[in-house]
Amino acid sequence: MSDKKETLSIVIPAYNEAGNISRTAQALRRAMETESISAAVYFVDDGSSDGTWEEIQAAAQAWDMVRGLRFSRNFGKEAAIFAGLSAAAGDCCAVMDCDLQHPIEALVRMYRLWEQGFEVIEGIKEDRGRENILYKGMSALFYKLMTAASKLDMSRTSDFKLLDRKAVDAIISLPERNTFFRALSGWVGFKTATVGFQVQEREIGQSKWSTWKLMQYAVTNILSFTTKPLYLVIGAGALFAVLAVIQGIDSIISYVTHQAVEGVTTVILIELIIGSIVMFSLGIIGSYVGKIYEEVKGRHRYVIAGTVGLPRREERPHDAL
Ligand code: UDP
Ligand code: MG
Repeated sequence: MSDKKETLSIVIPAYNEAGNISRTAQALRRAMETESISAAVYFVDDGSSDGTWEEIQAAAQAWDMVRGLRFSRNFGKEAAIFAGLSAAAGDCCAVMDCDLQHPIEALVRMYRLWEQGFEVIEGIKEDRGRENILYKGMSALFYKLMTAASKLDMSRTSDFKLLDRKAVDAIISLPERNTFFRALSGWVGFKTATVGFQVQEREIGQSKWSTWKLMQYAVTNILSFTTKPLYLVIGAGALFAVLAVIQGIDSIISYVTHQAVEGVTTVILIELIIGSIVMFSLGIIGSYVGKIYEEVKGRHRYVIAGTVGLPRREERPHDAL
């Protein structure tokens, strides 16, 4: 383990990335040495089932500025980012993907902006790389909702960012469990700059996101960032109150004018519509109750099973590395 303290900590979540670890570490080392940036790389093994952890250990052997954390199981990319940021010692921290889809040249530009005094440097996708139509459509819908909710333009943002120590400390000290790192860097404020980058092709391995995982991710993020869906429930209630008044008046008129009772179909339809709206509303409210339950339990965001290149795990609590 090296006692050298770095200026830049590079946090890299890695889930089943055995093929990418040494490539990424070597590419970063070359770039950091050419640019004379004192940097350390923090790989966070998010419970991989391939040889990712062995690769991280080998990379730490090869370069003393590689550090590694290993989760006891797959806790997800958000947790991995938080674990890396909590372990990082640098004056600024960058987060990037393990598959080199985030170009190192953009990381260097971010670092130069940090040197000029910017505190939050956001990586902005100039194009979204190759994605299928369904993915593009779904992500467009998700970002529309998130942009409306957070009032930040979310459609081109990514998890590729560089943050000053002050911003990192502000983010890792947040007590909430369900976080959305991408939006939090905007939420903390500070002097912000952006760096555009072209999403590179993933060369080794496959994207780790299944459609189901992405949908869960989208729902969790919407729930953790906005309470707007709850107002939908109030909106639906108000609409139906108005309809009820109109229907009520109509019924009274029919009664007074002694018109024959009719409209069983209408009754069934109204029952069905109201029933589904009530269920839908309960679902929305229930989702928030579920999130409150998760937050109140206050469980660790992740559990660390081992580290390399870092002080011994026993000396640190799981969560506050
Ligand atoms: N990742 C992770 N945990 C997960 C899923 C992904 O740490 O549960 C990491 C992955 O190893 C990679 C980054 O998050 O470094 C982005 O994942 P991926 O390249 O699969 O996503 P995409 O680029 O397709 O959005
Ligand atoms: Mg990728």
